[in-house]
Amino acid sequence: MYLKRLELQGFKTFAQKTVLLFEPDAGNRRGLTAVVGPNGSGKSNVADSLRWVMGEQSLRLLRAKKSEDVIFSGTEKKSRAGYAEVSMTLVNDDHQDLEFSEIVITRRLYRDGQSEYEINKQAARLGDVAMLLAQCGIGQRTYSVIGQGMVDEILSASPSERKEFFDEAAGLKPFQLKRQASLNKLDGARENLRQTETLLREIGPRLTSLERQVKRLEQRESLEVELKELEIQYHGGTWKQLRAALRNSKSAHEKAEQQAKRATEEADKLESELHSMEKAIPPSEGFRELRASIDKLSEERVKLRERQLKLESTREIAKARAEKPWSPLPLSKIISEIEDLHKKQLELLELLENAKSDPVKTKRLANEIHETVADLLNKLQRPAPEPQKATAEDPAVAKEAEELLKAMSEIDKKTREAQFELEQWNKKEDQKRSHIFDVQRELSHRRQEAQTAERQMSEAAVELARVETRRDAFLQELRTHRPEQESELETLADKATISEAPESFTPRLTKLRAQLEWIGGIDPETLKEHQETKTRYEELNKQTQDLSQAISSLEIIIKELDQTIAERSAASFRNLNAQFEIYFKRLFGGGDAKLVEVFPEPEYNEQGELIKAVDENAGRVGIDILATPPGKRLKAIALLSGGEKALVSIALICAIMATNPSPFVVLDEVDAALDEANSGKFAEIVSALADRTQFIIVTHNRATMSSAHILYGVTMGVDGVSQLLSVKLQDVIKQAK
Ligand code: ATP
Repeated sequence: MYLKRLELQGFKTFAQKTVLLFEPDAGNRRGLTAVVGPNGSGKSNVADSLRWVMGEQSLRLLRAKKSEDVIFSGTEKKSRAGYAEVSMTLVNDDHQDLEFSEIVITRRLYRDGQSEYEINKQAARLGDVAMLLAQCGIGQRTYSVIGQGMVDEILSASPSERKEFFDEAAGLKPFQLKRQASLNKLDGARENLRQTETLLREIGPRLTSLERQVKRLEQRESLEVELKELEIQYHGGTWKQLRAALRNSKSAHEKAEQQAKRATEEADKLESELHSMEKAIPPSEGFRELRASIDKLSEERVKLRERQLKLESTREIAKARAEKPWSPLPLSKIISEIEDLHKKQLELLELLENAKSDPVKTKRLANEIHETVADLLNKLQRPAPEPQKATAEDPAVAKEAEELLKAMSEIDKKTREAQFELEQWNKKEDQKRSHIFDVQRELSHRRQEAQTAERQMSEAAVELARVETRRDAFLQELRTHRPEQESELETLADKATISEAPESFTPRLTKLRAQLEWIGGIDPETLKEHQETKTRYEELNKQTQDLSQAISSLEIIIKELDQTIAERSAASFRNLNAQFEIYFKRLFGGGDAKLVEVFPEPEYNEQGELIKAVDENAGRVGIDILATPPGKRLKAIALLSGGEKALVSIALICAIMATNPSPFVVLDEVDAALDEANSGKFAEIVSALADRTQFIIVTHNRATMSSAHILYGVTMGVDGVSQLLSVKLQDVIKQAK
């Protein structure tokens, strides 16, 4: 890695575009470029420009009071520049671990304060430039550009300031920059973590509450689904039942009504039939005729009987007179029986006249009459015992007796016939009457039937009213809970498949409704808010995890960097110390010098009590320089002469170059205080180091100039603008030869 080109425009005295090229020497060593010229011509401005393009922020080191002091401020003859721009080109010839073979770093500053950095013409930040330079092994502000007065400064600086210088010289800068960047990131990550944790703590309770609400909402939804399903079944089932009950009650009512109507009609019909039947039975002429004929026959018979009795008595008397007489039935007995018969006959007639009389009794009486008559006749007609010896009887009497018997049997026959006829008539009457009874029975049956049907009708009406009341109550309930189902009740009822009574659903329905009531309404926005909050919470949680992970990684990186820094620092310090001693002895021709690490001391108060213990992990806090020129006692640096101080500084710079070679080093009049002999030694040492490090030396020293392979002469004309004149010494030497 070496510096190939430096281009200035508008920077301090370099008002015009000026290009400095730094090429390797003839031996292809990094070589030495001397910048020479009169005082005030602008040589140091070249060193400043390099410092500036590398991102220097210190106005003191840039020898300016304010930022825009680096822009050409104009002279009497030349107007001021609007901006300052410096570009440096580095060649990555030793293939440092970089993606470019050439790197162009540009810094630009406008008068309005706008500042720009570019890396290979791409806008970049100061941090990028610093990191790139550190990776190239170029220190930005310390030993890469050793300015005028800095030689003294290295020695007069405090041990901690010096430590900075040495850390950079030890190549710790990239690690330290990385460490710092990691520390910054760590701080940032911790701050972010703190913020995300605060947010998480804030969001957490809200999320919990929203989760509870969403759970309730889900529960509500499932309950609503269950309730709706249950209501469909309940409403459908109830309606199905009510519908059937209404139908049944109506049809029962209609049926009873029809039955009542029919029974009443039939009863009315029977009643009128009965009336007409009762009217249709006329007082029986036949009965009277029959009775009269029987009476007449009976009278005739009585008369005949009387004649017969008379005749018989006559004959008996005649017979008795003739023989022992046959005793007939006593007359008194006959008379009493006939009287008895007559009484019964009158009774029977009376019964027959009365239409409402009991037919059984009538019949019984008629039979009794018949039996008594038959018995009496039998007794009366008992033949007289055969006369043991017929005696002559009057033939007229016998004839009359015979005629009487004949007439009487004739009358008996007629009486029997009339009685038979009377019986037949009675039978017929009985039949007629029994039909009336049947009709009467049928009528009462029908009336009863009509009454029963009417009772059933009123029962059905009551039942219908009851069902209608139930239906109205049900519809009222339906309208309260699920009005939209009213229009689809018929369909629901058709679909209802429940086997249980709908009432069995009531407890579950009541419970579900109470649960829903208890859960209450939930804002539908809750779901959205819950989703958003959850997403935010998860993001934050993920962020927290990422940040915690990043923090752990950064802590590990920092720890590793600390270790690397400590190891490198220790190794380079040992080398540096050895080299310092070598260069010191070489420049001073003996003597003694060393670098001493300063570690933190425990702090005590006035009473001698420890107030701050030493952190054992903390590294050195500073570096002291001990230098004893030959023949002298170890002296404080401050007590050395100006030349001695310059030699110590140069020994230190050379030791650094030897231990940790920088691609290039600008030395601005570091040799100013050296005498001729020491100038020679310095030139020798630098020439030796130019093997590995490119030196750009602003000098008035001839010895130094003579070891350079390129000379840039800087002059300043009357216009106050620096001009550049380049001389390749080897060409000059060639030409001189
Ligand atoms: P010496 O040999 O004495 O150290 P030098 O060659 O190193 O001198 P510089 O220090 O580089 O000279 O230049 C200083 C000059 O630059 C001063 O004359 C100063 O006025 C001039 N100068 C510094 N800044 C500006 C600026 N912004 N515009 C114009 N001139 C400037």
